[in-house]
Amino acid sequence: MKSIYDLSLNDLENYLLENGIKPFHGKQIFKWLYHRRIDSFSLMSDISKKTIEKLENDFEIAPLIIRDMQVSRDGTRKYLFEMSDGALVESVLMIFDYGYSACLSSQVGCNMGCSFCASGLLKKQRDLLPSEIVRQALMIQKDLDKEEKRLGNIVVMGTGEPFDNYDNVMKAMNIINDPNGLEIGARHISISTCGLVPMIERFSHENLQYNLAISLHAPNDELRSKLMPVNKAYPLEQLMKALKGYSELNNRRLTFEYLLLKGINDRPEHADQIAKLLRGMNAYINLIPYNPVSEKDFETSSDENALRFYDLLKKRNIAVTLRQKKGDDIDAACGQLRANHLQ
Ligand code: SAH
Repeated sequence: MKSIYDLSLNDLENYLLENGIKPFHGKQIFKWLYHRRIDSFSLMSDISKKTIEKLENDFEIAPLIIRDMQVSRDGTRKYLFEMSDGALVESVLMIFDYGYSACLSSQVGCNMGCSFCASGLLKKQRDLLPSEIVRQALMIQKDLDKEEKRLGNIVVMGTGEPFDNYDNVMKAMNIINDPNGLEIGARHISISTCGLVPMIERFSHENLQYNLAISLHAPNDELRSKLMPVNKAYPLEQLMKALKGYSELNNRRLTFEYLLLKGINDRPEHADQIAKLLRGMNAYINLIPYNPVSEKDFETSSDENALRFYDLLKKRNIAVTLRQKKGDDIDAACGQLRANHLQ
């Protein structure tokens, strides 16, 4: 049975209309689901009995099962959710000075094959449905409800490549963003891609206000193709062209993510190449410490080298930040999400 959480407000209003029910009830139903966060249609006290019966007949409203939850020393929480077919999905809640932020997964496993990443150890089993993405955020919000705290930010940076599951991810973000849904502002939602050019082009034309982040990780084709197979399909020239197109159509600042891999992409010449690639763009680059993955040989750059690299970019007038680590003691740090049932 289809989940009620698969429907955007627009889908729900259309469904109601098709079934001879006044579409304005859509907003009321959405508020029950996403503001009051109930798990039973029967609790919707301003909806008629007949409509409730129809909904019960057509949709499933079950929450995700929490199979495991770990809390790190810095307060980061990692959730292991079980989908209705038994698939396991990880999400992370991070606490920043600007608020609570959830890192959501978009697929079960990943096919992008980045050489340094733990998520790709399990090939893609399937795409996640909008309802499965939305409910990761909803479950985390329900957990925060116990402390009367509000989830304020979403990053689609968990397992999977969001632009390889474009429609479902966009539908989920629409529900998360909706004022009658989870009500998280578009500018507080970030989607990260390894660089699927056709989908970047599509996204550019949608006039959505979500932040776009690009996993760059290498500033030349030779190295990038070695680290990220996607670069063979969409090399840097094509990628940068698509991103310039994005910037022309959207007045939004792009984020580039750059993992610091010791002795591989952290030399002065790489800083020069980055500066050349990014010059003149409305963008900044976020340098990320690499979180070691036991199956991989990569190491993170020393603090000294990371700072030197940061300074080199600064000197070249590139907007740059150095990311703080969160949750590395529970394998919840960036890039460490993996299918636990593998082990
Ligand atoms: N597929 C998307 C989103 C998921 S990965 C993408 O590639 O952008 C989110 C970010 O974590 C990416 O920048 C990814 O390259 C990075 N990452 C992967 N493994 C990592 C690791 N071990 N340490 C730190 N970051 C990692």
